[in-house]
Amino acid sequence: MINPKELRFICTRCGNCCTDKDTLVNISYLDILRLQTGLKLELQELLDIIGFYVFDKKLTENTLKKMVVSPIETERGLAFTGLLKNNLGECFFYNKNNSKCLIYNIRPMFCRTFPFSFNISNLRGNKANENIIINYTEKAKNYCPGINSDSPIIEYDYWSQIGSETIKELEKNFHFNERWNSRVKNGKIVPNVKNYIKTILNADDKKD
Ligand code: SF4
Ligand code: SF4
Repeated sequence: MINPKELRFICTRCGNCCTDKDTLVNISYLDILRLQTGLKLELQELLDIIGFYVFDKKLTENTLKKMVVSPIETERGLAFTGLLKNNLGECFFYNKNNSKCLIYNIRPMFCRTFPFSFNISNLRGNKANENIIINYTEKAKNYCPGINSDSPIIEYDYWSQIGSETIKELEKNFHFNERWNSRVKNGKIVPNVKNYIKTILNADDKKD
């Protein structure tokens, strides 16, 4: 693993992460709330931009544990929530005329953190000794030209702060989705997109 303080990256604005057909733009429930507030969207408008991406094969416990964004139970099986894409694989919010994101200021966590993933190292079990481990995601290593030996070394403190916030958000999202999955398993709710979004909009904890 590369020392986080030696990671190199600068975004070249190539748009690969917004247009790669095999890359899913994962969203947390907090991303959905930010989109709803930022774009002043009604329920139906949210339904028009969000999809459930159902896994095409059964996932093992081990695979599930390794997933950064927790999947949810749906009528068709376990799925990720993500922004919809067109049939070319481009994100709904990608403006290909100028290669820009139409919702840059409220873009999802996935986009704000790309090309990095984050973990916490806490070898002594003491919060004061926690360090954020930053690494490139596997997808990013494949197609992000910003990861390059000519790119500048990243500002560790800046990305470490983003990493810390991201880890907290993923944790909240995990618990939110756990509660949803439990309600589905107990037959308390019909697991369709509409009910999932309604549950988010009615959540007690809407703050990030
Ligand atoms: S793939 Fe990398 S360089 Fe290209 S837009 Fe995404 S983050 Fe920037
Ligand atoms: S939301 Fe914006 S930054 Fe994220 S994939 Fe879509 S166009 Fe790209």
